[in-house]
Amino acid sequence: MTAPPSPELDALLAGYRRFREGKWHPEHERWAALREGQAPRVMIIACSDSRVDPAQVFDVDPGEVFVVRNVAAMVPPFEPTPGHHGVSAALEFAVQVLNVREILVMGHGMCGGCKAALTQELHGTIPGEGGFIADWIAMLDEVRGPIVEEFGTTGRQAERAMEQAGVKVSLANLRTFPCVRHKEAKGELVLRGGFFAIADGVLHLLDEDSDAFRPVT
Ligand SMILES: [Zn+2]
Repeated sequence: MTAPPSPELDALLAGYRRFREGKWHPEHERWAALREGQAPRVMIIACSDSRVDPAQVFDVDPGEVFVVRNVAAMVPPFEPTPGHHGVSAALEFAVQVLNVREILVMGHGMCGGCKAALTQELHGTIPGEGGFIADWIAMLDEVRGPIVEEFGTTGRQAERAMEQAGVKVSLANLRTFPCVRHKEAKGELVLRGGFFAIADGVLHLLDEDSDAFRPVT
């Protein structure tokens, strides 16, 4: 059954027509070249949140960044167990096939996934009713304790601490993948952490030496 037209589809198609006229046509040569293949030098792992589109934040053109987005911008640890490992598959492709030079994990402010990890409001729910999210963000459980101890489970201070800790968890998990570890050790791959503050639109980069996020000027 084909879904009938809707205001949502109309809005998407109006955008598509703007894209075709305004961006696609002037750059059709770029698109023709991209037909031959992609060679992005950067992989970005970001949240699915509708407010933090990496292509928009970094103003990149098609073909420039290989992007994975999911709840809370998480990278799971290397787990060669049965299952459908979407992030791991994309990571493997980016690192081993596309040979990206850098991977940026970009967390963000007002992240619902991080907030739920903090409050544990979905704890105990079943798959389809919050259980998939609860299981996914349980990856943040390891950093939750100290944050709750210092800031509690609500409020922006606690949330921001969790949002930024999540980036560090993903970076640590990235380094559990042998191919990532190997390439980083050889200097063929650079890992970075970032944080996009929605309220003021400022990007922060993680300085791993001092363990602090600093605003990009
Ligand atoms: Zn988010």
